[in-house]
Amino acid sequence: MSDAVKKTIIIDGYLHPSALALLEARADVALLTVPLEDKSALASAVTGANAILARSAYITPELVATANGLEVVSRHGVGYDRVDVAALSARNIPLTVTGTANSPSVAEQTMMFMLACAKRLRPTDRRTREGDFLKARHEIGRIELLHKKALIIGFGRIGRIVARRCQGFDMEVLACDPYVDPQMIRDAGVTPVENFRDVLGDIDYLTIHVPLNDETRNLIGADELARLKPTAIVVNCARGGIINEDALYETLKAEKIFGAGVDVFAIEPTPGDHPLFTLDNILVNPHAAASPMECLERMGVQAAQNILDQFDGKLDPDMVVNRDVL
Ligand code: NAD
Repeated sequence: MSDAVKKTIIIDGYLHPSALALLEARADVALLTVPLEDKSALASAVTGANAILARSAYITPELVATANGLEVVSRHGVGYDRVDVAALSARNIPLTVTGTANSPSVAEQTMMFMLACAKRLRPTDRRTREGDFLKARHEIGRIELLHKKALIIGFGRIGRIVARRCQGFDMEVLACDPYVDPQMIRDAGVTPVENFRDVLGDIDYLTIHVPLNDETRNLIGADELARLKPTAIVVNCARGGIINEDALYETLKAEKIFGAGVDVFAIEPTPGDHPLFTLDNILVNPHAAASPMECLERMGVQAAQNILDQFDGKLDPDMVVNRDVL
């Protein structure tokens, strides 16, 4: 098949070999890789593209306007706060996500933060290596997960798995999600909460699993953090900006809560001089909750499959964000 009749897929950065193999097996597609975070390379490639497999690319109205042949934007992941969905919908272009491909990994990262913060892993590890064995053993206060209350905000794909993992640790689980039927939350053995602010003073772990949008930006600010117990642990594996970073910094610095685990930041890549990075009672991660090898493979394969399915006219509606275009 000549290149002229092939459909071009732009790959935004790295793609797992299994996903590449899936695409390369097709004689009717051509692949064009652009470096991650390289806006100008993406802008010049997009004019002849039929699909974008987007890892961290911003899909702006300007970009969409120049992409005359675009048939699908396939997110390598599930968050789409960098994608202008309205611009795609206006041209009947579906935006796809990778469903549950990354949910277990993000749930694992959440549990890891809960456990590591509760056991004060960061100072414990450091002081043990420094030879401060007895002080590290006896002078660092630690807490359990057992019989503690976890509040999950956002009871979607990830939130539901986190609930099951917490139940496995014999925790009591509460969830707040105005878009999910409370009975469905109860059926999962979880207590639905209408207004999460009402229970902040009573819970031990707070974990966020909502998308970043105008409704959720700064959802957790100084007022919400001030209601938490001094022994509370806060986890954000969703998106930076949902928890106000200045408020979190002040709260942690004054040791008004026990600790926090944060995978995502308002500005990414996050500069090394971020104030939160100076604190010992926070564990930070470079937006890597969905980076385990198995997860990258599942996400890559699903993102590639979504593109091929759109080309073949058999896109799974469950993978589509703007279902009105189907
Ligand atoms: P999902 O769409 O299945 O679940 C999100 C849930 O949030 C939905 O049930 C929705 O009803 C609920 N929600 C929306 N607004 C809310 C609000 N104001 N209050 C309470 N609940 C609200 O998505 P998911 O797959 O569970 O992923 C959740 C988020 O996690 C994504 O949007 C993404 O930004 C983030 N994420 C991060 C990583 C990472 O690498 N750190 C990986 C995957 C997902």
